[in-house]
Amino acid sequence: MNIEKITRDDESMVLVNVLEELVREKVDSAIKSLDMCSCEKCRLNACAIALNALPAKYVTTTKGALMALLAASNLEYQTSVQVEVIKALNVVKENPMH
Ligand SMILES: [Zn+2]
Repeated sequence: MNIEKITRDDESMVLVNVLEELVREKVDSAIKSLDMCSCEKCRLNACAIALNALPAKYVTTTKGALMALLAASNLEYQTSVQVEVIKALNVVKENPMH
């Protein structure tokens, strides 16, 4: 989903795995600082590896409240997300699946 296009007063409901959003964001920023391939395939593979190592954390919320919720969740989960994302990126870096 493209969360950048959502306005704050959007009342429609969404079901989101909070950790998935945090992992995608972290993979996108971390992959650029590493000396490795940053194609779509490698990014998504790293997301999958990291997400399989983390618990799922599903929430229902309104689209308008999602950004604030993700920001709050980021504080709670950033350490474990960071650790698993870096591990996953190293796995993909050593064994690119293409
Ligand atoms: Zn690649």
